[in-house]
Amino acid sequence: MSLASEERTIIMDSIRDIPDFPKPGIIFKDITTLLGNPKAFSVLMDHLTNRYLGYDLDYVAGIDARGFIFGSILADRLGIGFVPVRKKGKLPYTTVAEKYSLEYGFDEVEIHIDAFGEKKGAKVLLVDDLIATGGTAKAAVNLINKVGAHCIEACFVMELGFLNGREGFESEVYSVITID
Ligand code: AMP
Repeated sequence: MSLASEERTIIMDSIRDIPDFPKPGIIFKDITTLLGNPKAFSVLMDHLTNRYLGYDLDYVAGIDARGFIFGSILADRLGIGFVPVRKKGKLPYTTVAEKYSLEYGFDEVEIHIDAFGEKKGAKVLLVDDLIATGGTAKAAVNLINKVGAHCIEACFVMELGFLNGREGFESEVYSVITID
């Protein structure tokens, strides 16, 4: 299910570029303006719902924090459960953790050990707002697979294609909009 060019334009135009945030040289893709634009938000969610209706998914997992917004709405629309992948130290029950490299140093994401219930091999879609280097999302895919589920695709609203973050994923990768 591909995105019509007018839908792409509506979504693209609703995302704001903030230069030099959070540090000099980074152009931050601000999706709060998309969230505040009901037309763009529903075009995006309709597109994702249509794409994933036929995938027979068991869960949507979202990455802390903007992946929670898109992922939980999508899960509800698909009639399935939502699982949060959180930054270290936020989840209250027993967790599994995965470290990943940042430009300087490391960060860590966690998931509840029983997030996908008893059934082994649950089919999971991972959602986040943006893929840059891909480090965060690859760690999240590893976590999903570590706790006995199967991440079949990682889905992003935006991809910074010039960073080649989609290389080396264990799952398929889909981006609504790619910036070259
Ligand atoms: P990465 O692990 O490098 O793919 O970074 C992805 C995470 O950082 C996502 O959760 C994004 O929300 C955030 N991120 C990285 N770069 C940007 C950017 N230029 N604009 C907005 N968010 C970004």
